[in-house]
Amino acid sequence: MQTRAIDTRLDPPGISVSRAVSAARDLYGVDASARQLPSERDQNFELRTGAGERYVLKVSHASEDPQIIDCQNHVLERLAVARTGFAFPSIVRDRAGRGTSWLDEADGTRHMIRLCRYVPGTPLANVAERTPALLEELGTMLGRVDRALEGFSHAGAERAFRWDLRVARTVVDQHIDAITDREKRALLDRVLSCIDQYGTPLLPSLRLGVIHNDANDHNVLVSCADDDGANAAPRIAGLIDFGDMVDSYTAGEVAIASAYAMMGASDPLTVAEHVVRGYDAAYPLGEAEVASLMPLICLRLCTSVVLAAHQRGQQPGNAYLSISERPAWTLLEQLADVHPDAARDRFARAVADHPDDGRRRMSTEGLLAARRAHIGPSLSISYRRPLTIVRGWMQHLYDADGREYLDMVNNVAHVGHCHPRVVEALSAQAGVLNTNTRYLHESLVRYAERLTRLLPDPLRVCYFVCSGSEANELALRLARTHTGRRDVVVIDHAYHGNTTSLIELSPYKFNGPGGAGAPPHVHVVPMPDPYRGPHRGRGAESGRRYAAYVRETVERLDREGHPVAAFFAEPLLGCGGQIEPPDRYLAEAFAHVRAAGGVCVADEVQVGFGRVGTHRWGFETQGAVPDIVTMGKPIGNGHPLGAVVTTPEIAASFANGMEYFNTFGGNPVSCAVGLAVLDVLEEEGLQERARSVGQRLADGLHALAARHATIGDVRGRGLFLGIELVLDRETLAPAPRLAADVVESMRDRGILLSTDGPLHNVIKIKPPLVFSDADADRMVETLDDVLRQSSPGPRRPPGRP
Ligand code: PMP
Repeated sequence: MQTRAIDTRLDPPGISVSRAVSAARDLYGVDASARQLPSERDQNFELRTGAGERYVLKVSHASEDPQIIDCQNHVLERLAVARTGFAFPSIVRDRAGRGTSWLDEADGTRHMIRLCRYVPGTPLANVAERTPALLEELGTMLGRVDRALEGFSHAGAERAFRWDLRVARTVVDQHIDAITDREKRALLDRVLSCIDQYGTPLLPSLRLGVIHNDANDHNVLVSCADDDGANAAPRIAGLIDFGDMVDSYTAGEVAIASAYAMMGASDPLTVAEHVVRGYDAAYPLGEAEVASLMPLICLRLCTSVVLAAHQRGQQPGNAYLSISERPAWTLLEQLADVHPDAARDRFARAVADHPDDGRRRMSTEGLLAARRAHIGPSLSISYRRPLTIVRGWMQHLYDADGREYLDMVNNVAHVGHCHPRVVEALSAQAGVLNTNTRYLHESLVRYAERLTRLLPDPLRVCYFVCSGSEANELALRLARTHTGRRDVVVIDHAYHGNTTSLIELSPYKFNGPGGAGAPPHVHVVPMPDPYRGPHRGRGAESGRRYAAYVRETVERLDREGHPVAAFFAEPLLGCGGQIEPPDRYLAEAFAHVRAAGGVCVADEVQVGFGRVGTHRWGFETQGAVPDIVTMGKPIGNGHPLGAVVTTPEIAASFANGMEYFNTFGGNPVSCAVGLAVLDVLEEEGLQERARSVGQRLADGLHALAARHATIGDVRGRGLFLGIELVLDRETLAPAPRLAADVVESMRDRGILLSTDGPLHNVIKIKPPLVFSDADADRMVETLDDVLRQSSPGPRRPPGRP
């Protein structure tokens, strides 16, 4: 895509009919009469020889880029051999064998000219009856064209062009003031804000390719006769005028065709459905493409009306320019009443119920059966009625039926599912380079600098890995190499990762089903649980008492002659049940570990990057500074990325001659993603949002606790909250069955949560940070309703990390 300004000037060539006739004769040896055809920017002449042969002589605008014409010639050659079943203009070479010739005007202006064979047929514009079959066939033709052009690229298609939907939003903004009628302007503003909300975010993820880009019904030809010339049902015959071709959104092709086909229809969406179905059958559309169709259709219509108004000022006499202006306005009015989601669902259904495309979605039962057959059974599935999630957007997930769910549990999609900035950074870098870190690359060091700037001294040295487990695994090696020791102290019910050595550090696993208990080198201290643990309350005294368990343990290890290498701690405990330790727990515990010569590891995989609202890192809420920080989940917003940050001293110990190499860790794509996540966090103020929305949610939940005795505790910080359900507030008897039932009922009402904690009675809350005040209110209201209708009971559901 060139960056030069988008040219919207028009002044078509002024070749006379007689000049066209002589050019055809002199350059091509074609003796014919000529008639000028309507055109916006070029000049086209229909030629007819005495023998009845027909051609079109195309004279390009004087400023036309020869690359663009060359691109068209290549495309037409490609289509000529592509067996699409439809007809396109084929290029007739001149006497010298060239596809493009030159025509000099008296004033010295030079025009490129080409001769094409005439494609017989009636413009679709002249066909009154648009049957579903005809519309579907239109889609099919365009699908086959685009499929034939798949992988085709040409410098001439990568141009700054005002009809390219990729720049349409800019073009509309540039010329929108040409719309002076107040009502029309208001309509346009309304449609544009819908496009911005529902379309623009999808655009970066759309497939690109060279497309015809202008299948309006003057360019689509229809045959109304069978082979013997008798009248027959109209069939799509071919496509002409490839002058608007551009490398753009593939889905733009079918959107543009639909926009024109819909004009004048009383039920425009049904018309578009037929076109889309036909296109998809020939060249399947992706989900984001289907969702983007309505916004793209509207964007094309906005471009049409804005440019028509703008160009009317420039060329008052050129009626062709405004040919579709009035119907475009009418269609915009019709479409402004359709919710983009409704259109998306209709298009999704149109492409889903193809009778014969072999891509029908698998049923839930089919997916479960295939999963049982091919996926290891140690992996559980969320919810009694499993969800087939096919799409994510910010704090929402969508199932295969298009139902929207509020995601309150996925802290990986930290800045929002499929955040367009992150997706764009990922796809842009993936299209340029992805290698390992043994080459110099700017993004690696830029990312390391940005990340370490977020941490207190002396945490200055980064290692990039691909998951939270890899981060903790490396942290363990760093600590052991630095101290020359092996033993590790962990907090009860902690989970630190899925590798062999981390399962050994995770009481949640080794003391859970299938676990083998703590290995000899791992020592468990009690959870600093101010609600249910031995020391109640969140004050510093309680923190000190819990930290004393750490002191006792490291002193014992010293005495026993196998001193501590590392203390691993989640600053707020996730699998332990969303527990926020009492004040200063971590600061004191770290001091004891250091006094014993051990290294302190803060596992920020769950809570880092601003989730706790008041601080960027969980350890900061405890007034502690670790020696090693491990990061995962939110760091890449879903991209497999993890990091370990440590002190120069520990890093120096680790550089003992054995290289640490990680094939994928820190690759340029991951760094681009990581940087984009940091940008979004900063620009959208998401840490502050976690604080304020989290506070609102916590307040709402505390208010609920006043009404529902089953809410034993509401705890946490920012958007890392837990609700502990109990049968009795005195005995604290847990209510795991109620917790599980509540999560299921909330799911049925479109809100996704999960349970955790050693007693399976804590509802976990950790949504993407784009979670809003309105989402918080909805959650509280829905939970209120669900709790009113639920009854506690003794069943225990299975737990999971
Ligand atoms: N540490 C903590 C605190 C976690 O919650 C998890 C994942 N649940 C991990 C480490 C492991 O991360 P990953 O699954 O990315 O390997």
